Amino acid sequence: MAYSYEAPVSQTLFDRASLVTPGGVNSPVRAFRAVGGTPRFMVSGTGPYLTDADGREYVDLVCSWGPMILGHSHPEVIAAVQDAVARGTSFGTPGEGEVALAEEIVARIEPVEQVRLVSSGTEATMSAIRLARGFTGRAKIVKFAGCYHGHVDALLAAAGSGVATFGLPDTPGVTGAQAGDTIVLPYNDLEAVRAAFAAQPGEIACVITEASPGNMGVVPPLDGFNAGLKEICAANGALYISDEVMTGFRTSRAGWYGIDGVRPDLMTFGKVMGGGFPAAAFGGRADVMAHLAPVGPVYQAGTLSGNPVATAAGLAQLRLLDDAAYTKVDAVSAELRALVGEALTKEGVAHTVSAASNMFSVFFTDEPVRNYEDAKKQEAFRFTAFFHSMLEQGVYLPPSAFESWFVSTAHDAQAVERIAAALPAAARAASEATA
Ligand code: PLP
Repeated sequence: MAYSYEAPVSQTLFDRASLVTPGGVNSPVRAFRAVGGTPRFMVSGTGPYLTDADGREYVDLVCSWGPMILGHSHPEVIAAVQDAVARGTSFGTPGEGEVALAEEIVARIEPVEQVRLVSSGTEATMSAIRLARGFTGRAKIVKFAGCYHGHVDALLAAAGSGVATFGLPDTPGVTGAQAGDTIVLPYNDLEAVRAAFAAQPGEIACVITEASPGNMGVVPPLDGFNAGLKEICAANGALYISDEVMTGFRTSRAGWYGIDGVRPDLMTFGKVMGGGFPAAAFGGRADVMAHLAPVGPVYQAGTLSGNPVATAAGLAQLRLLDDAAYTKVDAVSAELRALVGEALTKEGVAHTVSAASNMFSVFFTDEPVRNYEDAKKQEAFRFTAFFHSMLEQGVYLPPSAFESWFVSTAHDAQAVERIAAALPAAARAASEATA
């Protein structure tokens, strides 16, 4: 595919980066390999906009893959960070900021009786799995194809996100021993879960699921799916782990739990709770959390866990996320979904706009998408054409057909107007695309 626009400074930076970093990036999907072209090197962000190294401005529909729910450089978050930085950047001791952030999480999400802070979503899910195994004394875990829980060895089997973007089967470097206890099942299929428990009685420590998946594109749970998982786990002495790294504090005040009310044993968080800094967490039942060191025998630690700058940013962001903020984000999302759907319909492009609260993505198929197999049947080549047309017109979408789009409270009428103006040409490009 030829591109009619160029990004010479980004290209130069990418060339430099590629010499010193594999693929020129520090996280694979950023490299644009699924869509081709030059990844944009961003230099600043304000509200709903990003500016790249060539001086071009984009309306941002990635929001750093979810965290920037207040938009970029929110003045109150920046002020909290500056205040924290001025007092020092890391102490390696307990501090009040981590207590306040933990209290905020516990206050918002009722099933979280205790919480432990970590630095990334990957660490959160890795630690939750270890804790579930330590608590139950069982080895096996269940995950769903197309769900991504970070790059934890045992959880990379049939994962979503970059693993889905690149169509990787599984990952070299993960040994049979590490992945052998992972049972991968089709998403939204309770019968498959029942069958797995029946086939391996007393061996499964936990089921981990994205509370509402966003890493194979947005594929919400069917009615009763999460409740069914909880019930099956409870009946079999296994823990139900809801991964809310993406949905937590985004889909509502209390994340996806605030929407479906299904009470997990353990939950994981990241993204929004860090306010753009590396802060994440896992938490849940106090009797389970009591198995963690230093109270219990399951070891878990981190040099920068509860970092004062990251916790200050996260706390400032969460405190700004009141009901009005969620109403705003939900409304912008609904407006954009309608605009995208209208533009594609007008050009006769088969599509499904799939939403889970304010998270959404577009599948280039009109068949129902209930799991990863369905998601893979879409005409992803149409997304590529759509993506590049939007990029050229100054709208930054996730560079993959298998990722959620994200909006923020900063996406105002002007930003929506810019997106609306770009959609007709992008929809035309999608309709004209060939495989
Ligand atoms: N879990 C989910 C649901 C995610 O979406 C992600 C990242 O996208 C992770 C875990 C891993 O988080 P991190 O990238 O902070 O390690």
